Amino acid sequence: MIELDDVHKRFGDHEVIRGVSATVARGEVVCIIGPSGSGKSTLLRCINGLETYEAGTIRIEGAKVDAHDPSIRAIRTQVSMVFQRFNLFPHRTALENVIEGPVFVKGEPRQEALERGRALLARVGLAGREDAKPGRLSGGQQQRVAIARALAMRPKAILFDEPTSALDPELVGEVLGVMRGLAEEGMTMVVVTHEMGFAREVADRVLFLDGGVIVEAGPARQLLTDPQHPRTQDFLRRVL
Ligand code: ADP
Ligand code: MG
Repeated sequence: MIELDDVHKRFGDHEVIRGVSATVARGEVVCIIGPSGSGKSTLLRCINGLETYEAGTIRIEGAKVDAHDPSIRAIRTQVSMVFQRFNLFPHRTALENVIEGPVFVKGEPRQEALERGRALLARVGLAGREDAKPGRLSGGQQQRVAIARALAMRPKAILFDEPTSALDPELVGEVLGVMRGLAEEGMTMVVVTHEMGFAREVADRVLFLDGGVIVEAGPARQLLTDPQHPRTQDFLRRVL
């Protein structure tokens, strides 16, 4: 589904992604862990074309991701992103936020989008909150609206960038619960997270990114409980 081959990305003189190769199969959940500044967000942004990259290739179902090519618009509708800070439109209701993409980007009929939007909000546990503006919702509810909005695009994969990092601790579980449900239903997901419990239980594989390179990759349980590389060991000692 997603293939990265020797991807390099720089900001000015600073090479932030230094030769990353990885694949994500259909239905797979891959968690990316690593210290702050290691390039995790940049890598996700390259995958759905929010950032350009200078060398290597990223493909989604075989189609090259090129931020300068008009095809990027189609790719962005196929690969949804969920951000740390929900990025909802503050003056629109939960339901209006969810149907924005389908109606204005994909041109779906409004009635159809509304119907599906309601179903998606119910699916993330927000039936009855369709008309609430983001300011009236908790952080956990806002992030669940953001997930419903991502799903509304009928994506082939969803990229999550620290989706629970901005939440009060007691709200983390409800968002992880929704994500776990998506994983069980076979959604292809790439999740940047510091939630090691989630990674261990839900991810098929974990990538440890440090200094713009994948230092270690492996099955979730193995990498998290028996890391081989000293840098992975050191990182996990500090976060666990
Ligand atoms: P992470 O998500 O792992 O914390 P990021 O991908 O956000 O890391 O950042 C990786 C590095 O790239 C950091 O050193 C950061 O300062 C730098 N960086 C990120 N975005 C930009 C940008 N738009 N311009 C310049 N430098 C950036
Ligand atoms: Mg980040």
